[in-house]
Amino acid sequence: MDPRLAFNQFHESPTESASSRDTSPTANAIMEKKLEGGKAESDCFEQSVVRRVFTSDKISLYNIADESVDIIFEKMQVLPNEYLELLKSRLRIILDGTGGSQHREEFMLLQKLVQSRSDLTAKTLVRAHRVQLEILVAIKMGIQAFLHPNVSLSQTSLVEIFLYKRCRNIACQNQIPVDDCPCEICSNRNGFCNVCMCTICTKFDFEVNTCRWIGCDLCSHWTHTDCAIRDGLVCMGNFTRSGTGQAEMLFRCKACNRTSELLGWVKDVFQHCAPSWDRAALMTELDIVCRIFRGSEDVKGRKLFCQCEELIEKMKGGLVELMACRVILMFFQELEADSSKNLELGEGVAPREACKQIAEVVHEAVRKMEMVAEEKSRMLKKARMALEACDNELEDKAREVAELKLERRSRKQQVEELESVMKLKQAEADMFQLKADEARREAEMFQKIALAKAEKSEDDYATRYLKIKLSEAEAERQYLIRKIKLRESSRSDVHNSSTNSDCHLRERNAARKLA
Ligand SMILES: [Zn+2]
Ligand SMILES: [Zn+2]
Ligand SMILES: [Zn+2]
Ligand SMILES: [Zn+2]
Repeated sequence: MDPRLAFNQFHESPTESASSRDTSPTANAIMEKKLEGGKAESDCFEQSVVRRVFTSDKISLYNIADESVDIIFEKMQVLPNEYLELLKSRLRIILDGTGGSQHREEFMLLQKLVQSRSDLTAKTLVRAHRVQLEILVAIKMGIQAFLHPNVSLSQTSLVEIFLYKRCRNIACQNQIPVDDCPCEICSNRNGFCNVCMCTICTKFDFEVNTCRWIGCDLCSHWTHTDCAIRDGLVCMGNFTRSGTGQAEMLFRCKACNRTSELLGWVKDVFQHCAPSWDRAALMTELDIVCRIFRGSEDVKGRKLFCQCEELIEKMKGGLVELMACRVILMFFQELEADSSKNLELGEGVAPREACKQIAEVVHEAVRKMEMVAEEKSRMLKKARMALEACDNELEDKAREVAELKLERRSRKQQVEELESVMKLKQAEADMFQLKADEARREAEMFQKIALAKAEKSEDDYATRYLKIKLSEAEAERQYLIRKIKLRESSRSDVHNSSTNSDCHLRERNAARKLA
């Protein structure tokens, strides 16, 4: 039988585990927390709700468990939702099992009432109020999950569960009897589901990938390992199908009364699941194997028992789980090798022949081991070379990086130099611009001065010219005046007609000159 692998996906669902080590407490814990926190709140909430409900209309869990479906249905119709929720949460607290003997007694009474009723049939229950049905199912099954706000089953499913026609495990919900199994348990035990429940205690949980559940190789029904050990269904016996004829540890299925071998099954579970177990899980599983094989009388069973016990001790002393896991898996491999060797050798072989065969086997094993060693050393060499190459490459890269860094630094320096040169040039340009501006301004000034000077010199020239002309004209005038005086004086002395005419001519010339 393969390890129990089903229900993986249902780990969120609540459980009614019979196992002492329940590994799926999440949903329960959440529910408990909700209830703890909600209890005080609900007390005062209850008062406020109750105030609005007439005393005659109030119903209790006892009424629901006891009175006819129709009467309760009608009462529930008019009750506020808050009141109905309150009823559910009260039942949840009772089912929680933390309220001590008083709650236990209350629950027993309610369950007895519900179980003793003959009027709760498919016909009447389909007419029940939703909350009424949830409460009835929860009381009958003793499972609070049916009251959980997040669990919502159809009315039909609830009725079928109530009537034991559907598995009460919310995560399973198979129609029962599953596959119409004709076995005694499936046909006689109300509500038993062979997919998820223990053939002995009829409970279910969500343990998977574990030796805590043993599956029957023949009918596939499941049984808690603890239940099987307690009921003496794990014991020594001759396992006919293995053909060795030697006694070994067997599991006898309560459903089909046939036996399944245990060592191979434990080996399968470990080989499939051990790598995924954490430290605690590995120790627990080793402990279960110890309990299974404690009474073992055959060599292999004893060996396995001793090995597990030893590993538990070593782990308590600090052995790492990975190592422990490796050891136990190696152990199973060796066991397998041993048994195949035994089969090869067969029984009744002559000692000499047996020795020869053993020598051959040993020789072959040594040869194989040598080959493996050679291969390993070759691989090691290769790996070492690869490592070296990696190292070299790493060095090269580091060098390249250093060079790049250096180059980057020099580039940076160059850039900085260029920047400073540029700044210098800029400053120079600014200075030249300043000077040019100054020069332009000076030139403009000079131009103005020159213009002014030119104007002045022209004026001077004209003045001088006029002065010269004036002095020339003055000189001429003086000359003429002298001449006139001279002539007047001579005229008075000498009256000469020809001279007169000369004098007229000269006067005309002088006048023309003046003009
Ligand atoms: Zn069955
Ligand atoms: Zn089931
Ligand atoms: Zn059980
Ligand atoms: Zn069976």
